[in-house]
Amino acid sequence: MRDFTLIFGCMFAGKTTRLIGLYNESQIDINEKIAVKPLIDNRYQAHSINSHGGLQLIGHRISKAEEIYPLINEQTKEVYIDEIQFMGPLIIEVIGELMSNDIRVIGSGLDKDYLNRDFGHMKALKKLSNNHIQVSAKCHICHKKADFTFRTTDSQDLVLVGHNDVYQARCEEHWNEGMQGRL
Ligand SMILES: [Zn+2]
Repeated sequence: MRDFTLIFGCMFAGKTTRLIGLYNESQIDINEKIAVKPLIDNRYQAHSINSHGGLQLIGHRISKAEEIYPLINEQTKEVYIDEIQFMGPLIIEVIGELMSNDIRVIGSGLDKDYLNRDFGHMKALKKLSNNHIQVSAKCHICHKKADFTFRTTDSQDLVLVGHNDVYQARCEEHWNEGMQGRL
């Protein structure tokens, strides 16, 4: 059965929390599932996947999608990929390969950047996935449902990893308000 579940949303929407939740709920043996995360995220310990809420999962750090292959063996039934938007250009091919080997794939990632543009290959990943889980955050200003990532600095660097000192989740209205004069 080909199965690719994609969890997506803005920052602070609980994407990693959801991924860890699905990993923990999965009934299969721990040796039959692997979790990976890109090396780019230096916020937490080297061999764990952490949510903002404090949940933790032991996983492999990789720098690109094709590094998933050597981690797979005959036992592998599920592959969990956090921060999938940073997995590089071959991610589509790698997931296709896993799926054709009957390995279930569960990914989570940021679908839009702080300028509300599609992040990396997220659009193609949405198309490839058969199960979508869209998660939302709370607006930093009004606490209503938020689906936009707002960057509080004027840095033009796309990959700026940080906490709420750099980013905020915002509703459309307050994201637009903040972006006025910047675009
Ligand atoms: Zn708002």
